[in-house]
Amino acid sequence: PLPPVSVLGLGMMGSALAAAFLKAGHPVTVWNRSAAKTGPLVAQGATPAQTLTDAVAASPLVIVCFTTNDNVADALAAVDLTGRTLVNLTNGTPAQARSLSTWAEKQGAAYIDGGIMAVPQMIATPAAYILYSGDEQAYETHRPTLAALAGTQWVGTDPGRAALHDLALLTGMYGMIMGVAQAFALIRTENIAATDFAEPLHAWLSAMLSGVVPGMAEAVDSGQHLTDVSSLGINQAAFANFIDTYDDQGVSPELFVPFQKLLDRSVAEGHAADGLSRLVDLLKK
Ligand code: NDP
Repeated sequence: PLPPVSVLGLGMMGSALAAAFLKAGHPVTVWNRSAAKTGPLVAQGATPAQTLTDAVAASPLVIVCFTTNDNVADALAAVDLTGRTLVNLTNGTPAQARSLSTWAEKQGAAYIDGGIMAVPQMIATPAAYILYSGDEQAYETHRPTLAALAGTQWVGTDPGRAALHDLALLTGMYGMIMGVAQAFALIRTENIAATDFAEPLHAWLSAMLSGVVPGMAEAVDSGQHLTDVSSLGINQAAFANFIDTYDDQGVSPELFVPFQKLLDRSVAEGHAADGLSRLVDLLKK
């Protein structure tokens, strides 16, 4: 038989995780603060735990997926974690992951932090993967079980590393979402259907991303920011047209004014001939 797993926290994500373990054939014990959410999983074959203590006692591998990390140590404070491996898939900061790791080790548990690169509907599909960091030996032991959820990607023994990767990937995503929201807001001022604009926007972003990401990465690592593609000077000169157009068309410039300020600073500090990769250095505090 496959190893048992306990899943604590049955929100949208925790429920998807528990369902994936069940589907893969693992015995699954579930616990949720509001007990009603265990219903659908029990119907799929999970065992409901009456208390957190029972849930943790049921399996050597314990998955936690709460709203925020503030809840995790509080909820588990009175629970015996001796000999357990805690895999915390709650979204949080690297600092939180490090302090939870120290806390869990004091409680006699091995700690692994994870960052889920998927929405619940993608769990147990090939598109999903989860970043892991922390106790490597525990990770190697439980990796075959964790693989039921999504692809497994180990990023290091510093427990904060998965959160750092996760937040950096999501940072890229939120930057893209800001751009997409602004582009649709702008196009909609002329009553152009967003659905008509979606295809050219998607194609443009895809083409830009496949050039920009590797190109910037190389420049950042080598420190060679001089460009024959597009200089900070020319971007800074053109950027006033964007802010003016947002104003003219009645679209808030609030997301893009900070970017204009950064471009202005790059030129003021003498980097007009460099490419956009120079911005990475300028963002260091
Ligand atoms: P939900 O709001 O659906 O679920 C939150 C869960 O946390 C519920 O089970 C809730 O219990 C529990 N919870 C909150 N506070 C406490 C507490 N003090 N003690 C015990 N349990 C508590 O959120 P999601 O499932 O969507 O997200 C869970 C985590 O997964 C978050 O950190 C999120 O960032 C991360 N994540 C989510 C993704 C998504 O697409 N949904 C993608 C990647 C990561 P109760 O039901 O009793 O309120």
